Amino acid sequence: MTQSDRFKALLITKGDAGQQVAWTELGLADLMAGDVTVKVSHSTINYKDGLAVTGKSPVVRRFPMIPGIDLAGTVTASEHAEFKAGDHVVLNGWGVGETHMGGYAGMARLKGDWLIPKPDTLTPAETMAIGTAGYTAMLSVLALEAHGITPDRGPVLVTGAAGGVGSVAVSLLSKLGFKVIASTGRPAEADYLKSLGAHEILDRAELSGTPRALGKERWAAAIDSVGSATLANVISQTMYGGTVAACGLAQGMDLPASVAPFILRGVTLAGIDSVMAPKPKRIAAWTRLARDLDRNKLAALTTTHALADVQSLAPQILAGQVRGRVVLEV
Ligand code: NDP
Repeated sequence: MTQSDRFKALLITKGDAGQQVAWTELGLADLMAGDVTVKVSHSTINYKDGLAVTGKSPVVRRFPMIPGIDLAGTVTASEHAEFKAGDHVVLNGWGVGETHMGGYAGMARLKGDWLIPKPDTLTPAETMAIGTAGYTAMLSVLALEAHGITPDRGPVLVTGAAGGVGSVAVSLLSKLGFKVIASTGRPAEADYLKSLGAHEILDRAELSGTPRALGKERWAAAIDSVGSATLANVISQTMYGGTVAACGLAQGMDLPASVAPFILRGVTLAGIDSVMAPKPKRIAAWTRLARDLDRNKLAALTTTHALADVQSLAPQILAGQVRGRVVLEV
């Protein structure tokens, strides 16, 4: 591709009428500075992409912006020592799709320091089936392991289980031998969640009421993508010495919790951030994903769409209507 070549991109602009989103044609000169140029083959939609594309939350902080916080593709040009033309790479986060032009385009120009080499055993489409949501699920599993959570300690709860983070978390934990309790607001997805390895389905309504300071001890650990009253209920019902990995806010950003589980049961609340996670942590997570995520389950939790469908998918993911993960073919 030469500087004059054109590619399609979804562009968010901001004017007096607010945020506008439209497909357009751009050239490499329209992209932002970076030392690696990538021909994008696949992207995906995460909850945050839904917020960016609909403008429901001020996720995009630079205009114009190409949204898309994840991408997979092939390097076409590189001034970075670690990458050369032809290399297959994966990008998650680092503000891409928020402050740096992102994955919903035929081409991207990025900082090489942000990229990781695509794991050999995963296809580019599989890396986007995992995406930020799946890599965050793995970061959460690593946090539980770092706090000594093993299958013999007791069951592990996953909230928002039928969503992207949740579906990958259920699959990973099940493969690692944990007894998984999957909390969902979609009873129709019970069979789906059991096919991913859930032992038990919990109606999310049970976790969304006013939290008590301490509840019955029900799980040794949890991965929570929901936040708010749900996270407070999850913490209050965690067993003595347990750990809760908090990675999301699908219900809300608040946390109406008591300190009782921390000071009376030694419960640990582990915060999970994928966006600015340092490279060694990312490599560790992707290495474990390549090893520990059942490829058949990954296929079962994935649907594939053309990139052009992203505008109709964005409100659906915010409404909790998207099951598992979505691969977007660019
Ligand atoms: P999804 O929309 O795919 O999944 C979210 C799930 O949460 C839904 O499927 C639903 O699960 C549940 N949910 C939605 N609304 C509510 C509600 N009001 N009350 C209770 N449960 C609800 O999103 P993702 O999996 O992509 O992301 C999940 C969360 O994790 C988001 O908040 C996202 O911003 C955050 N996140 C954070 C990252 C980090 O770096 N910390 C990285 C990636 C994601 P069900 O239907 O099963 O009830």
